[in-house]
Amino acid sequence: MQDRTRARALPDLAAQWFPSPGLKERIEATRGLFIALGDDALVREAFPRLRFHWMAKNIDGLWATAALDAADPNRRVGELLPEPTMASTGYRVLEVLYCECCGTQLLSGHKIPLTRAERDASPNPPRLPGKGGGAPVCYELTPGGARIEGLPEVTAETRTDAQPYRDVGVIWLVPPGWKAGPAEDYEWKQASEERDDKGNPWGRGDASWKPAWLDPRTGVVTIERRQSAGIDCLWFEATEPHAGPALGAMPQRCPSCLIDYSERRGGRSAPIRSFVTGLARTSHLLAKHLMGVLPEGSTRRLVAFSDSREAAANLAVGVEGEQWSHLLRVFLLREIRRRAMGASPRCRSDSWN
Ligand SMILES: [Zn+2]
Repeated sequence: MQDRTRARALPDLAAQWFPSPGLKERIEATRGLFIALGDDALVREAFPRLRFHWMAKNIDGLWATAALDAADPNRRVGELLPEPTMASTGYRVLEVLYCECCGTQLLSGHKIPLTRAERDASPNPPRLPGKGGGAPVCYELTPGGARIEGLPEVTAETRTDAQPYRDVGVIWLVPPGWKAGPAEDYEWKQASEERDDKGNPWGRGDASWKPAWLDPRTGVVTIERRQSAGIDCLWFEATEPHAGPALGAMPQRCPSCLIDYSERRGGRSAPIRSFVTGLARTSHLLAKHLMGVLPEGSTRRLVAFSDSREAAANLAVGVEGEQWSHLLRVFLLREIRRRAMGASPRCRSDSWN
């Protein structure tokens, strides 16, 4: 065991390589060493080969307390947090979503249906939440649920914007004095995520933004107009089609800019999405840059490992798809630049006249 090569943290090695200078100089010296190692000729001449592990964390969401900021009416969430936790400074923590068109922020969480009695903690509460008679009028939102279905055979989908409607609740906090437009502006037909060959959804369900209010301390959303302290919000509600495909959790109409994706046949099915860096995008970014710095030749290859066959297959097709889109962008930009730089004087004068 003692002869075995073991990985050590870079600051420890840097301290061993450059013991005398201060921390700042030591970091610069280590950086210089790595730049020198990138020089083929130099490496062949004098340096031993080094092997190192570089950890990169995939961002899997952004969380915030359920609160408004009086100083900034455009901000619809409270204190931001990098990790999910049940509460912070006495307020329920929920996942932050955003609209890719207008940038407004929404909050979401795993939803637990509650009847009015359960919310008010009646002396004879039913045994199971939401099963005590009467339709649920409230939902408690919690930061994330246990997504363990299908494990360990398949990889659990962890992105909130890929979850089904039955599991996730979405709210949009409205600032004081905010006035809603006509009711029909907030109603649409939510399309199922499953599509046929032509991109038509397999089913649709009535969907709307309902006036509601949130208790920021308990995370309970009550689907009615506010009668006591709390924050006014809009609640995304949909009716799942009978015996049809399940609806997705992300609203297909934004409550702020009213952009509607429900009739789209391609691309994203909803403008609302979570703050995540996709695994395929991150893997492609790493692969692209690593391939760029590896020496050319038959030895230039990368190996990706994954913890399940399904994840490995997704990773492979994801990186391939990202590379295709990336090349398309590169060639388009190159062609636009070539034409812009090489345009004849006649073309330029035509375009101005
Ligand atoms: Zn929007």
